[in-house]
This record gives sequence, C-alpha cells and structure tokens, in this order.
Amino acid sequence: MGQKRISHRQIYISWWFALSLVVMTCLIFLDGYAHAHLASTDLWGVPTGGQNQILSHQIIPDPTDPLSAIHPTFDFTSDDSFQRYLDPSHPFQNINYVPADLAPINSNFTANDARKFELRQEAGDSFADMAWHFRDHFGGDRLSITSAYRSESFQKSLLKNWCSDDLCAKPGTSEHQAWLALDLSVVTKWGRTISMDKPNKYTDWLHAYAQAWGFHNTYQKGIAIDGKVVEWWHRRYLGTWFATLLFENNQTFAEYYKTVNR
Ligand SMILES: [Zn+2]
Repeated sequence: MGQKRISHRQIYISWWFALSLVVMTCLIFLDGYAHAHLASTDLWGVPTGGQNQILSHQIIPDPTDPLSAIHPTFDFTSDDSFQRYLDPSHPFQNINYVPADLAPINSNFTANDARKFELRQEAGDSFADMAWHFRDHFGGDRLSITSAYRSESFQKSLLKNWCSDDLCAKPGTSEHQAWLALDLSVVTKWGRTISMDKPNKYTDWLHAYAQAWGFHNTYQKGIAIDGKVVEWWHRRYLGTWFATLLFENNQTFAEYYKTVNR
C-alpha cells in the first residue's frame, strides 16, 4: 500500500491556480489603489480626472478676481432664470412656460438611460458630469433618474391621485416643470436599487458635493422652512455660484429667498 503520489500534471495545475490567484489579487488591489490615489481632487475635494468632464467645475465668478467680492444679485422672478423661485405663492408668470434650451441628459454613467430625460442644457450637462464623479467615487454605484420634467397636467394628476400639497408642488410652481429638477435613487454595482427616502452615504455625498455642479436640495429642512416635507431624493439646479453660496450659508433656497425678500 504505497502513498498516493502527486503527478507532475497536478503540480503544474496547482502552480497555475496559485499564480492566477496572486495575479487576480494584485489586479483588484491595483484597481482599488487607482480609485483611491490616482484621481486628484479639486477645490471642493471632489475627485477630478473624469472622462465625462463637460464642465471643469467653473467657479463663477473667479474667486481670485477682486470684483467677485461684489454681492451677487440673482433673478428670482424671470421664468427662464436658473434661480427662479417657485412656491405656491410664486407660480410661473407664463403657465405654459417651456425653456428654449431643452436637451436629453447626455450621460453614459447613470444606472438607467439618462437620455430618456430632458433638462435645460446647462443643468443636464452639469448633472452628467456629476453622475460620472458619483460613479467614480462609489466604485461603480450609479445614480438613477426617477423623474425629471413633469408637465402641468401630470402634476395635476399626481395631486389628484396620491400626492398631497406639501409633497407635490401645485401645478405651475414645480421645479420639475422648470426643467431644472431631478429625483434620484441609486443602483449599486451589484444591481441593488437604493432609494433616497432617508439619509444614507449617497445622500451624504450629494449633500457635501452637489453644489459644485450647481445642484441644491431645495427641500431639506421641512415644511416650516421650505414649505414641503423633506425630499432627500430631490435636486434642483441653481448654478454653481448660487448653490455654493447656499451650501456655505447652510441655507435652503426658501430660507435665502425669505432673507433677501423680507
Ligand atoms: Zn422632485
């Protein structure tokens, strides 16, 4: 009864197996390293180096320019202003308002097909860049667009069917109707959908960085302040300058608006 001998063939297979294991481990490590270190960060600490950098996080105005110290004035009343203020007492001047610069959202980095949704060009381009950074930061987890534009009639049917006034805006007062707002969720790299109906690491990231792309969470402090319940999933485009100003003041749009329009 001799010992079972290991054949050359078995040794050869074991060697290849061990070698592939080492190579695969190295590749996974290098991928992680590249994610963590190769991307440099910009002024906001947001990783740069995107393939989809339509915008280069332009700060308007340039903070090195002494003229930028002049207090900004925003246009809260024109329907086509990116800072148009909308609430039940401030509806569109033109109830049939449609912006001239609508475009499908040009991104390959959202979980669902972004091109099925339209926003005003500048807002959509900025969102596309943010979607790339989001996916890069979370190693493959992607933003998913739940809703972008909602027509006046759709808004009416929402209110009629299941949405209360403090959740859905009255027709003619919705930021979605301005083609400037998005409702978002996340699909992980493993295909799991994560909603944003409560705070999580994704809403934290958006809260910390979205202003760098001009997006603001209009409804984050509740009915008493914003006139609507908290909507973690909602982001509205205001332009980088104004969104950053609100972020630095820790104010919502409604708070700022009430401060300057007392
Ligand atoms: Zn929304």
